Amino acid sequence: MSQAPENNPLDFSQLPLSPATLANLTQLGYTAMTPIQAASLPVALLGKDLIAQAKTGSGKTAAFALVLLANLNARRFAIQTLVLCPTRELADQVAQEVRRLARAEDNIKTVTLCGGVPMRMQNASLEHGAHIVVGTPGRILDHLQRGTLDLTALNTLVLDEADRMLDMGFLDDITTVVKQCPKERQTLLFSATYPDGIDKIARQFMREPQQITVAAQHTESLIEQRFYEVTRANRLSTVALILNHFRPVSTIAFCNTKQQCRELVALLQAQGFSALALYGELEQRERDQVLAQFANRSCSVLVATDVASRGLDITQLEAVINVDISPDAEVHVHRIGRTGRAGESGLALSLASLDEMGFVGRIEQYQNRESDWHTLDELTPTGSGRLLPPMVTLQILGGRKEKIRAGDVLGALTGDAGFTREQVGKIHVTDFCTFVAVDRAIAHDALERLNNGKVKGKSVKVRFVG
Ligand code: ADP
Ligand code: MG
Repeated sequence: MSQAPENNPLDFSQLPLSPATLANLTQLGYTAMTPIQAASLPVALLGKDLIAQAKTGSGKTAAFALVLLANLNARRFAIQTLVLCPTRELADQVAQEVRRLARAEDNIKTVTLCGGVPMRMQNASLEHGAHIVVGTPGRILDHLQRGTLDLTALNTLVLDEADRMLDMGFLDDITTVVKQCPKERQTLLFSATYPDGIDKIARQFMREPQQITVAAQHTESLIEQRFYEVTRANRLSTVALILNHFRPVSTIAFCNTKQQCRELVALLQAQGFSALALYGELEQRERDQVLAQFANRSCSVLVATDVASRGLDITQLEAVINVDISPDAEVHVHRIGRTGRAGESGLALSLASLDEMGFVGRIEQYQNRESDWHTLDELTPTGSGRLLPPMVTLQILGGRKEKIRAGDVLGALTGDAGFTREQVGKIHVTDFCTFVAVDRAIAHDALERLNNGKVKGKSVKVRFVG
């Protein structure tokens, strides 16, 4: 990074972006383009269709968000972009990133349309006018069929996590939705892998798409992989031994079944760990809360199934535990790829019983390396006392509908309440409530002062979560 910006091919200022957008990127700490951004933005900003493939966490969202924003006329109150995502979590994450990147310009409105929220609430948001819609194929289709969504002014269509949408059986819904988009448009397709179905979509819906692939970087070397042999009887208690030995701040523990997730969470909670489960059948509100608590470091362990955790953007993850070995070697590699991101080192700890040794063999073949086996008696407790997360989550009963923004909450805590910026963690505003993480040491004070003070001039109710 010692090169002068004008000579650095990874500098955003090489791109035809507005000064306000460039300034906003700097503010966001986006000092250089990621490889997929550097490969796709110059082409996509020329208006070309694009198929871009790069692994999770490589910055694909900004790679399309900057393009759709460049295509957008903020003064025209019509939907100009549609982003299709496989799940509500992913749609929320994309919408958040789009909003952050859009704040360089005034009044760009982004609406998410996903299942699990009453249609009439979404209709109300749409009636207020929106520029960008992010949603899941099923719900978008519902709106189109009821005539509550008008795509005639659309100029950019994004298919995000296209491989995942195909896995989930959304091909027909996507086809129907795309047929209702204007033919004159730019189509951008992003995917972590490149299964056959994608070619089919590309041939049907895209115009001479440029194909860009950023090979998976070999971050594997930063991930330390260890295997432990367990039995049915000691598998779950070994997870606790691992946590007490390595004391990772944030861990995802992957289980192959929901039942296993439930049992592990119960065991960990009984032993005083801060652990939460994430699996398919949770109610949306519970899922949001679990994810907020884990992402803001007020929960130590997220116990998850593969499906439920797909695509989650959690940047700081010290450890991944494979409580069960995945029968699919590619899934195993995806799981462990969640740690050791962005140059940080990570731990991937896998528990295998004798009947899973065949799966371990497949993983060895797939990764082309031998497993590093360790014994359970190495797992001695370290550190002092219970493993506690560094942060605590407070829930403010009031969110986007009450026009609360993250800045208001930060302002309330660092202003009248007198805390420092460093004592406040992630702030996550949802429609009806706001989650704010604060340093464990000030949690009780912060709760009291927020309850007795004001956010955006109004009294609020605040409680602990978890
Ligand atoms: P993907 O969609 O490829 O899985 P995301 O778009 O979710 O990845 O990006 C992963 C993380 O990287 C996000 O937290 C995002 O804010 C961050 N990020 C994206 N681009 C940059 C950049 N150029 N510099 C720094 N951070 C970035
Ligand atoms: Mg993504």
